[in-house]
Amino acid sequence: MVYIVELNGFKYYACEVCRSLYELEDQAKTCEEHCRTNPGIPSTISKEAIGYINPEGEPQKVFFKIAPLRGCSKTVFKLCRTGVKIYKGC
Ligand SMILES: [Zn+2]
Repeated sequence: MVYIVELNGFKYYACEVCRSLYELEDQAKTCEEHCRTNPGIPSTISKEAIGYINPEGEPQKVFFKIAPLRGCSKTVFKLCRTGVKIYKGC
């Protein structure tokens, strides 16, 4: 059950365990599988993460390590505040 992050009309996906943010849902699912079966050990796919999320924050926050291909073009670790929506997929 990965997190789905809606930002500026684009969707990104985040691992529910380590909160790493990915451009593809499959990447987030792979990460989540690894994180569940190997707690505490970073997954190799986490290198492909484009950032991370803080879904418990108020407001919810998304941090980008690198500028994603589209949408938010903020620089390293800058916070994107506009219209971010984080919810769990099913
Ligand atoms: Zn993970």
